[in-house]
Formats: sequence, structure tokens, C-alpha cells
Amino acid sequence: MTERLYLLDSMTSAFDAVVTACEPAKGGYLIELDRSAFFPNKGGQPCDVGTIGDAVVSDVNEQGERLLHLTDRAIPLGTAVHCALDFARRFDIMQQHTGEHLLSYCAWHLYGAQNVGFHCALSYATLDLDKPVSHEGITAIENLANRLAAENAAVTAKIYETEQDLAGIPLRKHAEGLTAPIRIVTIEGSDACTCCAPHVRRTGEIGQLKIVEAIPYKGGTRCTFLCGMRALSHAQQMQDTVSAIALRFSTARDQAEAAVQKQAEDLSNAKRELRQAYAALDEYLAKALKAESEDVKGTKLIVKILHGVDAKRLRNLAGATMTDKALSVLFSDTGERVSYLLASNGIKADMGVLIAAVNTALNGNGGGRGTLAQGSAKTPADLAETVESLRTYFRNVLRG
Ligand SMILES: [Zn+2]
Repeated sequence: MTERLYLLDSMTSAFDAVVTACEPAKGGYLIELDRSAFFPNKGGQPCDVGTIGDAVVSDVNEQGERLLHLTDRAIPLGTAVHCALDFARRFDIMQQHTGEHLLSYCAWHLYGAQNVGFHCALSYATLDLDKPVSHEGITAIENLANRLAAENAAVTAKIYETEQDLAGIPLRKHAEGLTAPIRIVTIEGSDACTCCAPHVRRTGEIGQLKIVEAIPYKGGTRCTFLCGMRALSHAQQMQDTVSAIALRFSTARDQAEAAVQKQAEDLSNAKRELRQAYAALDEYLAKALKAESEDVKGTKLIVKILHGVDAKRLRNLAGATMTDKALSVLFSDTGERVSYLLASNGIKADMGVLIAAVNTALNGNGGGRGTLAQGSAKTPADLAETVESLRTYFRNVLRG
């Protein structure tokens, strides 16, 4: 069985070992060592990577009692090897994991909220609390955690051989189903809980702790958080984003939100004014369309190409051209696409049937039924001629 160097010393970044097993496997070889500091995928966090001799370790997993390192090449049994962890990655993960213990302690201490889930990815980490926590509550948790980090308390791991030894320890969390020997990770002066993973040595090594999102989750709260360099890099990105917004509005960073707010209001006013202007314009347009209509056996026929009129306006316009007996076929061209709408009143023909002729002529897609149908197509080069031939078609339809 492999001696797990990470259990009591989290700072081992390189070590010597002997290969005790090497088997071909999917993606390379599975190597076992007599001793290893490589932490496997476990406890909600990703494994360590690094090297065993010249072999690159890309994955580490437990299989029962075995600790299996996935490598890109084989190493003969009994070989003495020098091993090295990608310690920047390991340290970053330790910062997140110790950060999680500290944040969980603060949530429990301040609000009695229990940590019921932890996931650490390579760019973010989440912890789930079993209670809803307000925005102010999240800030209070964050503040206390950062204060405790600045106190630079010792973080220690100890293995307790019997349940009796554990009896006097005020555990925040005792993972279900665990039996002695049990490993307890303690933050001096505050937290103690069961945990299998490596941690930084003192809370100061966590660096800054930042909860970047807290959302309702399964009746509680899911907090996404960042520690150490992740928190710094997030702050830098946020600062760059706010600076870019401020620059865009030619204002100071602390005025950016007000500037965005004002632009949103301006935009909403402008949209309202535009709607009013279109309504007035479309009233005139509908009158002009009606004036242009031709009488085909008592039905007012309108066939017209418009430009840049959206679907809703097209529908309203067609509606405004209806008389006792009417057929309006309106096209709206953007230069790239043409949308079309057929509306009728008081005539026998079904628009769902008539639109087929337009679909065919323009190679477009559209449908509908009764008195309304609509569709669209790529604008053809000869749109005007095509529409003229459709006008002839609709005349003939109305003539019966
Ligand atoms: Zn833990």
C-alpha cells in the first residue's frame, strides 16, 4: 500500500519513491509507488499532476486502497524515481479548499448554516449551504473569513485512531459514515472538521476570499467563491471591465453605474418615442396604401413592397388597410431578407393556400390560415419583377 505523504505534510512538492506496480491502461500506464504526495481526484477537488521520473502524470485516482497515477509511459517495477508535483496547481487548490473550510465556519458561526456540498474546479469553486443567506449575510461571511485569514491562524491535520479520541473535539462537521481512524483539519481558534485533503499551513496563505455569486439552491444557497490569485485575477478583470464601461461613457469608474442607468432610461424613452412616431407614420402609410389599392371585382387589392418595416408593424399596417372586401399582400425588404404578409377580409380565398404562390416565387418559407399568413425569404435580385408577377396572380385569383 502506498504511504500517503499528503496526509500530514501538504507542502511536499517533490519526493523520491520506488515503482511498485505498472500496468498498461486506457490513455497510458497506471503506476503505483511505495510512497506518494500526489493527491487523487477526491473530496470534491481535482487531483495533482506532475512527473514520476520522465513520465508525465496527468491523472491520479484511488481504486480501493490503491493510489494509481496515470502516466504517458511505462516505468519498470522496482525503479527508484524522483517525483515532482505541479505545485502551483496544488497550492491554488489548497487555497480554495482551506478557504472553503473558513467560509463554511463563518456561515455556521454567524447563521448556523451547514456546508452540504463542495466542488473545486480549476477556475472556480462552489460551496452549498443548507439555508438561504441574504446578500448582507454573504458580505458578513466574507468579511469575517477575510478577518480570520489575516489573523494567520495555524491549519493542522491530525489523524484520530479511535472515536473516543474524537469525543472532546468540537466538530463543525462530521462526514457521515466515517469511522476511525479519522483525519481532522483544524483552524486554530475557530474550525474543526473531518477532511481528507491537503491544506495550506496558515490561514494567511489563503490570501483574499471572495464570494462572487450566491444563488438559491435546493432550498439553501450555492456560493461560488475564489481565493488567493483567483480572487486577485477576478478583481483585476472586474476593474478592467468597469474601467472600459467608464471610458465608454467618459466618466469616472464610480459614476459608471449611474451612467449606464441613465443610458438605459434614455434608450427606453427613445424606444417609446420611436413607437409613437411609427404609429403616426403608419397611419399615413395605411392611408396611402388604401389610396393605391385597385378594385378587382369589388375587392380592394394592395400589393406593395415596403422597406425596413418589422413584422409587428407589417401586421398592423395590413390590418389598417382592411375594408369590407380586401386582400393586402405586403412585402418588407431589408436588402438581405424580405418578409411578407397576406391579410384578407370578406373573401373566400384562404391565406394559408395563397401564400404558397409567394413561397414558390421567392423560394421562401411561410404559412398561416384563414385571413392571415406570413413568411420570409432571402431577397432576390429581381424582387420588384417577382412582386409584379405575383400581383397578376392575385388579380386572377380575385377574378375567379
Ligand atoms: Zn475539506
